[in-house]
Amino acid sequence: MIRVTVWNEYLHEINQPEVAAIYPDGIHGCIKAFLEANPEITVKTATLDMENHGLTEEILNETDVLIWWGHMAHDKVSDETAQLVQKHVLAGMGLVALHSAHHSKPMKLLMGTTLNLKWRHGDRERVWCINPSHPIAKGIPEQFVLEKEEMYGEPFDIPEPDETVFMGWFAGGEVFRSGVTFRRGKGRIFYFQPGHEEYPIYHDKNVQRVIENAVFWACGNSERMEIICENPEPLEK
Ligand code: ZN
Repeated sequence: MIRVTVWNEYLHEINQPEVAAIYPDGIHGCIKAFLEANPEITVKTATLDMENHGLTEEILNETDVLIWWGHMAHDKVSDETAQLVQKHVLAGMGLVALHSAHHSKPMKLLMGTTLNLKWRHGDRERVWCINPSHPIAKGIPEQFVLEKEEMYGEPFDIPEPDETVFMGWFAGGEVFRSGVTFRRGKGRIFYFQPGHEEYPIYHDKNVQRVIENAVFWACGNSERMEIICENPEPLEK
């Protein structure tokens, strides 16, 4: 059984009726529902307004993969919680960062770059699967269209990814590395661009399959194992 925790800042759905209409149970509720359709996955959720943002040492110890959605309140996440997430990723917890989570505190700690990009609302996106043998691409067609999505455009200030699985092409002409993987310490990280809150992106079957695949991929090293720093005697002389 893969234990997933979906973290969502959960502000747009509360403050904007048009977003609540798309996600009546919150983005986290939507993601939980489609992931739990798979009997091998169990899902807990956590939100910004909870004590410690719903993320304690105990909860992260019991999390194989953390999914993160945040946008307007990155700075409201405490440094302590961001560092706790970073520590667990380095020790083996998987992280799936969605859409505007590129600018979240945990991603900034783990990447070390600005993660800046170009953006514009209301473009059509064609998502190209450019690494079809990758586990995260399993069951995904060569390309699929999101009729309305926020354009995210290059240059995207990330470290060179370990793998690029998806490329986004937008009606306005921009391109973007829409699905990229990183390894940090023992942990696996997948960043996936689709998911602007004003459009029903997480109801799209291909997007759901990518996130489900990413959970299976990211849990690969999820047994916690701290990397130790020591100066041992030689084994042989
Ligand atoms: Zn957005």
